[in-house]
Amino acid sequence: MIGAVPWDGLLDQARLIAKCGGPVVPEEAVSLADLAVTGPDEIFTVSRAVTRPTGGVLMSSGGTTGRPKLTFVAYHQAIDRLLAQWRPLDTGDLLLNLFTPGRLWASHYYMQALAQRCGSDVAPFGPIGPDEVAEWLPLLRRLRVNAVAGTPTALADLARGVLDAGGRTPIEKIIWMAEPWTEEKETVVRAAFDQVRLWGNYGSVETYVIATSTPACGTSVLHLMPDQVLEPDDGGALLSRVGDGWTVPTVRYRLGDRVAAARCGCGRSDGLRVLGRADDAIKLGGALVGIGTVLAVVKGEPGVRDAQLVLARAAGERHSVSKLTVHFTGEATVDAVRRRLLHQFYDLGVIARHEPDAVAVERVDRLHRVERTNKIPPMVWLEQVA
Ligand SMILES: [Zn+2]
Repeated sequence: MIGAVPWDGLLDQARLIAKCGGPVVPEEAVSLADLAVTGPDEIFTVSRAVTRPTGGVLMSSGGTTGRPKLTFVAYHQAIDRLLAQWRPLDTGDLLLNLFTPGRLWASHYYMQALAQRCGSDVAPFGPIGPDEVAEWLPLLRRLRVNAVAGTPTALADLARGVLDAGGRTPIEKIIWMAEPWTEEKETVVRAAFDQVRLWGNYGSVETYVIATSTPACGTSVLHLMPDQVLEPDDGGALLSRVGDGWTVPTVRYRLGDRVAAARCGCGRSDGLRVLGRADDAIKLGGALVGIGTVLAVVKGEPGVRDAQLVLARAAGERHSVSKLTVHFTGEATVDAVRRRLLHQFYDLGVIARHEPDAVAVERVDRLHRVERTNKIPPMVWLEQVA
């Protein structure tokens, strides 16, 4: 268990959720384990119920790897809770908001509200491609843009553009979330903005922010915000909260990620590390492999910058694939990556010997992105690519 909260508070929340249409609380419940696990249906029902008196913003996550998860987000976006311990912006900062607006995605609107509450200026920009940066750079410098918010992918695009333009821009602060860093993205960002300090968030559209990191934390450990507990679980960590001021009351909500407790060099408690998606196992012939594990092995090959799986669906089970193609960027050779992959995953090696086309490796210039969020997902289905 990460974090600690009083049982009475949890019971109050469970009863509130039940009143809003969530699961019934058993009379004999004495601990969290006695309460039902909840999912996106409960989030939608409960978030709609609690926002009826004030209205809310309809947001959605997912839809790329699963069914969209809809939620009504309270207009306050839980920013009071956040600012009590995490305040990346000050008066006088000008924040460039690179999160894609529209399409029910929350991050863009969250950043606008955060800037407003911190008394800083904000420029709602959306993603910028590396080849567009040169034309905007003089303006960004003249206006003294000193803070940027975006996914690591969007931040790396900006950084690449700044380096290509041969210029410098005084970015001091970065706010990141919504996907993990890769070594390559962090390297290019630190090369372009050498004084930059990184502020991170972990959460979901359904729950809003769950954990935060400061420049003292690095990019792989975040800290659970107070009044919450996380139960690590292979099927996806379970989040429970007490007290008010959150966007939605939450008891044992199953997140899509596996999460583990972690120590952080900053000395703060309740550190956590996001290990990867909970439902990322795929079946190719008789081989069962985890997408995250395959990508970790591929990215371990010297010269691989980033990688992604392109999967062809097989008839039958939901997670069955008929062909697995590894796409990677960087200077590594296809042969080296293929050798490493088949060596590390014995079952894939067997399949590749019997059906040479079932496992493929290709070097590409650019990995596929999710149009709605501009993120680089770990895997895409072949029909999404075609
Ligand atoms: Zn820390």
